[in-house]
Amino acid sequence: MITLLTGASRGIGSAVAERLAGAPDAKLLLVYRTRQAEASEVKAACESLGAEVALHAADVGDAQQAAACVEACVTRFGGVDALVNNAGVTADNLAMAMSDEEWSSPLRTNLDAAFYLCRAAAPHMLMRRGGRVVNISSTAARRPNRGQVNYAASKGGLEAFTRALAVELAPKRITVNAIAPGLIETEMSARVREAAGKEILASIPMRRYGQPAEVAAAVAFLLGAEAAYITGQVLSVDGGVSL
Ligand code: NDP
Repeated sequence: MITLLTGASRGIGSAVAERLAGAPDAKLLLVYRTRQAEASEVKAACESLGAEVALHAADVGDAQQAAACVEACVTRFGGVDALVNNAGVTADNLAMAMSDEEWSSPLRTNLDAAFYLCRAAAPHMLMRRGGRVVNISSTAARRPNRGQVNYAASKGGLEAFTRALAVELAPKRITVNAIAPGLIETEMSARVREAAGKEILASIPMRRYGQPAEVAAAVAFLLGAEAAYITGQVLSVDGGVSL
């Protein structure tokens, strides 16, 4: 399977890359933004698991650069079977104090990028008579935190986008699903965990943070043959937080 994965240099993305790399005949186009050294380590780890891997640096919030990611995948591997829109950012602030840049940054990276990449990748999936899209959302889409009107809007939009695109692409044998992780131990969540760790742990029914590999397992499931009849869904991986 040829997979284009964004946000692959660290956190959840690197766990997804390593999870997919272990499958037979895995070909991975790993997209990152700036952290080349970390992306190269992920590439080496995936290659040691047997995958063919290419790295590609891009700002996926830019339409042209997002389209170039798909072209790079097609040029290197001959197509795209699966797209995982995982790259994401936060820019927390209270709404009344939020700048225009803080408002638009998560929308651009978390929502616009998914559209640009899906628009560019879907025709290649059509040519291969099927495909898979997995968008990484967040529990914040439905249970927002203070200071995250921008992030919650981006992820809520991503979930609505997922359902709408699923309807369009279902007749073409392309499934489109999302995963909504809870608090996962990565750099993105470090500040929140440090600031309010005990309080947050008490609010998680399982009383622990999630691990990137636990999100990666859900991605692998949605990309796999056993998920062929599942589309337009949001799968929570959150230790019960959304209940
Ligand atoms: P990290 O901050 O650890 O990693 C973010 C990744 O996204 C990096 O690979 C980064 O590249 C890449 N990236 C950021 N902006 C861009 C951009 N404009 N263009 C291309 N790549 C970009 O995040 P996580 O692994 O924690 O999060 C992954 C996804 O999971 C995100 O969508 C996030 O919203 C979501 N999520 C995370 C949760 C958590 O608790 N961690 C909870 C719920 C959802 P580089 O390293 O080069 O900067």
